[in-house]
Amino acid sequence: MVEVTAYIGMGSNLGNPQQQVSLAITELDTLEGCSLCRASSLYASPPMGPADQPDYVNAGAEINSSLEAEALLDQLQALEARHQREPTRRWGPRTLDLDLLLYGDNAIETSRLSVPHPGITGRHFVLYPLAELNSSLVVPGAGMVETLLANCPRDGLVKIETQRQSVV
Ligand code: ADP
Ligand code: MG
Repeated sequence: MVEVTAYIGMGSNLGNPQQQVSLAITELDTLEGCSLCRASSLYASPPMGPADQPDYVNAGAEINSSLEAEALLDQLQALEARHQREPTRRWGPRTLDLDLLLYGDNAIETSRLSVPHPGITGRHFVLYPLAELNSSLVVPGAGMVETLLANCPRDGLVKIETQRQSVV
């Protein structure tokens, strides 16, 4: 079975965000056809969009998956649902947001899926965790993560130093 290396971006700002994200990292390893390779540190960031909501906790993870991209999205959305994510306004608060950032070196455009995730290039809370996982990654159509990072100010992004329980 062919395995693809994929990168997942995670965010939460409701219901104990640190716990939501830490748990989601361990749960990625339990998804059908998926195994966790490594996870980034957790980061805290001010909310994007509406400011009347709590700060976010973000992280990134590298996984190997034997699933097709849309089947992987199904698994990620099922995991979001298990974290009681409720549909909300655009960029509104959420218990868990899981984005498929990269799926190998594929570029995918369907009604459900844009890969690379369009938010990668300009979002510090996506790029910093991704660079921590693998700074020599190339984002198809956009270039090296290292270069994108150099053009992306850290703004209010802060690495959370508390030790996350490591699963790998
Ligand atoms: P955002 O992650 O930009 O805050 P949402 O999580 O609310 O927005 O968006 C969810 C929608 O985005 C889903 O309907 C899903 O089909 C679509 N989508 C498109 N591309 C991706 C991707 N690469 N990863 C996750 N969801 C995606
Ligand atoms: Mg999302």
